[in-house]
Amino acid sequence: MFRTHTCGELRLADIGSKVTLAGWVQTVRKFGSITFVDLRDRYGISQLLFGEELNRELDRNPIGREFVVQVSGIVAERTNKNKQIETGDIEIIVEAFKILNGSSTPPFTITDDTDGGDDLRMKFRYLDLRRNAVKKNLELRYAVNRAARNFLHQQGFMDIETPFLIKSTPEGARDFVVPSRMNQGEFYALPQSPQTFKQLLMVSGYDRYYQIVKCFRDEDLRADRQPEFTQIDCEMSFVEQDDILNMFEGMIKYIFNEVKGIKIKEKFERMTWEYAMYHYGNDKPDIRFGMTLQHIEETCRGRGFKVFDEAEKILAIVVPDAGEYTRKQIDELTEWIRRPQVGMTGLVYIRCGNGGAYKSSIDKFFDVESLRRIATACQAADGDIILILAGKQERTIKAMSELRLEMGERLGLRKKNEFRLLWVTDFPLFEYSEEDNRWVARHHPFTAPKPEDIATMVENDPEIKDASQYLMHPYAGIKANAYDMVLNGNEIGGGSIRIYQRDLQEKMFAALGMTREESLQKFGFLLGAFDYGAPPHGGIAFGFDRLCAILGGSEGIRDFIAFPKNNAGWDVMLEAPSAIDQSQLNELGIVVKGY
Ligand code: ASP
Repeated sequence: MFRTHTCGELRLADIGSKVTLAGWVQTVRKFGSITFVDLRDRYGISQLLFGEELNRELDRNPIGREFVVQVSGIVAERTNKNKQIETGDIEIIVEAFKILNGSSTPPFTITDDTDGGDDLRMKFRYLDLRRNAVKKNLELRYAVNRAARNFLHQQGFMDIETPFLIKSTPEGARDFVVPSRMNQGEFYALPQSPQTFKQLLMVSGYDRYYQIVKCFRDEDLRADRQPEFTQIDCEMSFVEQDDILNMFEGMIKYIFNEVKGIKIKEKFERMTWEYAMYHYGNDKPDIRFGMTLQHIEETCRGRGFKVFDEAEKILAIVVPDAGEYTRKQIDELTEWIRRPQVGMTGLVYIRCGNGGAYKSSIDKFFDVESLRRIATACQAADGDIILILAGKQERTIKAMSELRLEMGERLGLRKKNEFRLLWVTDFPLFEYSEEDNRWVARHHPFTAPKPEDIATMVENDPEIKDASQYLMHPYAGIKANAYDMVLNGNEIGGGSIRIYQRDLQEKMFAALGMTREESLQKFGFLLGAFDYGAPPHGGIAFGFDRLCAILGGSEGIRDFIAFPKNNAGWDVMLEAPSAIDQSQLNELGIVVKGY
């Protein structure tokens, strides 16, 4: 046998046993005529003791960090026990060893607190993966994967694979394309998600489908996005929105219990998109803390303060118990909201002192009575600070939403080990793209409108004469049968009830500015399938990488992916993407401009 035990397995009960271990050398510590070696594998670390005789052999055949060795010996009780590791009570008195393979000195230490920088760790990812910290993340990922599969299997879902070489599936990003050698000049697209396939599977009668599957989106990478990422992708037939919300609330609760031992008993909060936008300025609100947005135009206007009088929107948040907050900290916050990413010019504050003693940056325009009126409108109490932003509607809402999160962060209210889940529902079906001068689907083109809004969609022409007036168009008010699951301010899943009637789907494509020919050319297969008895259906997909990262208490998804790309979509280890041989290009019939 190559090994009788793993490096994480032996305990006091094994004392006296003869064992064989194999693994990587973590450290070599020489003390005169004896040497201690820590041997590591996926399961842990065991201490090896090389006595005098073997020590001489070690001198002849030295071993170093990351050498792969096999040792046989007797398990003994340690005199100096190490409580930090599970095998810390024992050591192995080595009787024989064999170097299975040598190793160059690794470019960084294979320890939890490695000295390797990001790029170096990515270049040598196979070494980085030996580190405990990364291994734990992958173990957690596998646990989430297993829990999801168990749950879905118990609920009668079938894992069915769908192809990667397909035709475009619009999910709001650019497609990655793959040239076809056999059909020169033609291209496959990699799926942005299995959306249309899972819908076809519903038409075929597989009423509960799932897949833990790669999706590919060629987006300008914002921080912490990956061009290929994994979804838990699901679809069900003969369901209404509530059936889906209940089923997948169940799945997430199951995963939390299995993976984290956290029992979530309450039903997830549900709020409409409109409610979320009004109270949090955000469609993925972090509800671990309050500090909701207060709309205070009515109370603030008409006091001769130009900034307020001319503002489209005036928003406040109440920072609780902020009596200690210094002038310096407020100045710093003002700097923070002036950063280009936030883009506001000024921050107004009102300090609510004891017994109605107010102190504010607008004392010149607002007497105590007016300040009290604002404080009452915001439900602020003694000791609180009210922070106010004013300006253009959209920008002010966005900035206040960010300031709220920032304050939550600064005050330690966004606790990593607290998990607050909710559903956001009733999203708008359409968004108007001023750039393209047309309506676009907010979720994707297969999402059904709310039943009560179908008539509005069918009876109205999508065309808009004056782009600045799009909010007045009946389409702007149409709500979708769509929902997102939100966890601690992150959208972790999203889906919708689908259109399953051919005429409504055709109307949808037309609303998005597609001609009949275009819609047939792109989606003829789906429209055709809807002619042959498509059942009512709906589904959802969860961002698997993100879910794992949050469960692992991290904001970054890269550490939960075995071989991730960097933020520029670049694989540092493979050095991909890269040029291909001229002969390959010739075969594909491709001429690269400027190549
Ligand atoms: N395909 C959608 C997405 O990737 C999810 C869904 O509607 O089921 O966001």
